[in-house]
Amino acid sequence: MFRQVKRRTAGRRNFEDKPSQASEDSQYSIPNLFTSRLSFYDLPPNQEITLEEFELWAIDRLKILIEIESCVARSKTPKDVETSIKPLLLKYLPLSPAVNLNEKVIVQERMKDYYSHFILRLVFCRSEELRKKFIKNETMLFKVRYNMLQPKEQQEFIELNSYKLSWKYISSKEKNELIDKLFAASGNILKSQYIADSGDTLNLNNEQTKQMMIQKENFIKLPFEKITQLVSSRSVYLQEGYGYLPTSLQLNLLAIEFQNNLNQILIKTFQAIPRLEEDDRLLPLLNNLSKNFSNFQYEVDMDSELTSDINALSITSKQIMSHYPLCASHLQKNLMSSSHLKYLGRQQLGIFLKGIGLNVDEAIKFWSQQFTKNGSMSQETFNKQYKYNVRHQYGLEGARINYKPWDCATILSKPKPGSNEYHGCPYRDFSQTQLTHSLDEMGIKNQQDLNAIMDDVSNRDYTVACTRVFELTHQKVKSANPNAPQEHISHPNLYFDRSRQLERSATTSVESK
Ligand code: SF4
Repeated sequence: MFRQVKRRTAGRRNFEDKPSQASEDSQYSIPNLFTSRLSFYDLPPNQEITLEEFELWAIDRLKILIEIESCVARSKTPKDVETSIKPLLLKYLPLSPAVNLNEKVIVQERMKDYYSHFILRLVFCRSEELRKKFIKNETMLFKVRYNMLQPKEQQEFIELNSYKLSWKYISSKEKNELIDKLFAASGNILKSQYIADSGDTLNLNNEQTKQMMIQKENFIKLPFEKITQLVSSRSVYLQEGYGYLPTSLQLNLLAIEFQNNLNQILIKTFQAIPRLEEDDRLLPLLNNLSKNFSNFQYEVDMDSELTSDINALSITSKQIMSHYPLCASHLQKNLMSSSHLKYLGRQQLGIFLKGIGLNVDEAIKFWSQQFTKNGSMSQETFNKQYKYNVRHQYGLEGARINYKPWDCATILSKPKPGSNEYHGCPYRDFSQTQLTHSLDEMGIKNQQDLNAIMDDVSNRDYTVACTRVFELTHQKVKSANPNAPQEHISHPNLYFDRSRQLERSATTSVESK
């Protein structure tokens, strides 16, 4: 199904040299599968995609799920999760409404969404822990996307799935006739919701609440056994075996349906996995994707304008070092105070500095200054023993590999630091006292914030702890630039780049006032 080069193997499907006319014709018309922007992903897709699309689409969806995972771990409210992931959705997984847009674009966007979901099912069906994570994050994504639909689209989505939901919208006439009873059951919940949505500016009496219910709520009617929880809390109106659910209470129910569906399907997918084991093209990709939930590379942009002021001197300044994540500042501070770093430390810091824009000449200058500054090493010894290592990091020696800065997953996969070693991730490797002291130096003093970070650390969510620290230490610049992208920190260079970008946009917005 995915091989681009024809290979005839018994029992395996092979491509024709040319796509059939039928598949060419249907390629860009909206097939039934993609009628709605939102989906329960009931039917598996059956069009052909390339291996490249297979991997790229999965990685793009994974970026969204990782961001959701990080937001939830930092106890963000659903509203905040929505704000965080909206820009990422537009970037990696847009789903445009089918108006004013070329049908080809619409189909491609929906195909990417559909396929990427199915590919990640293969990745995350393999253990209970992975299944739980996938279901939690996909359900949140489903909720965010449902909220992004227009009310008309939401209704169309429900109607499209009425075969499985047994939901039925009531007519306006029925709503008006039942409004007193509907108000008696759900009025209080809706009233407090309207007041909260208005930012506590509304003061509603019962009559006004009823009017708002008539205007805003599209009630559905469904068998009461589907909503037993709501029935027991007496928050919905019941009549003749049916419950009447207002719009604002429908999403949770939909999400439960989505979640249950996905849980069952993932178990079935897991049972089908052995049949895939024979496939030598997909398995390495799937294994790679499932190895780590944050196992994708942040692409470091070495040509960025943010690199123009990076040199051997500036990287020792407070101004530049204030943008370092804790792992990099810990390494560099120890290098500067002890004039030495052992091999793993030199590698981790060296290619981090390369990633922030330090060129090879400036790197040699920086390392030789640090190693020789207190007379513990002569320039000649440095040239003989360490210069090669720096040039090697830049791909100028040995196998001439252009090494990329390590992401957090790589750093965490290295051996833990021994005595007089400073590599690794401080959120994993520091003692509680040492970490509290470092956080205090970074300006994090609030006990609640410290507890939240320590909780992340004890849950081994080191990148979540680091993302939380990033947010706490950048609150001021962020308030000057509320639309700045928020991303889960999965790479030390991402931390540095985001920090500098925030500072730069905050300065620009102050200058333009
Ligand atoms: Fe560095 Fe990543 Fe650890 Fe943050 S989470 S300190 S960026 S290794």
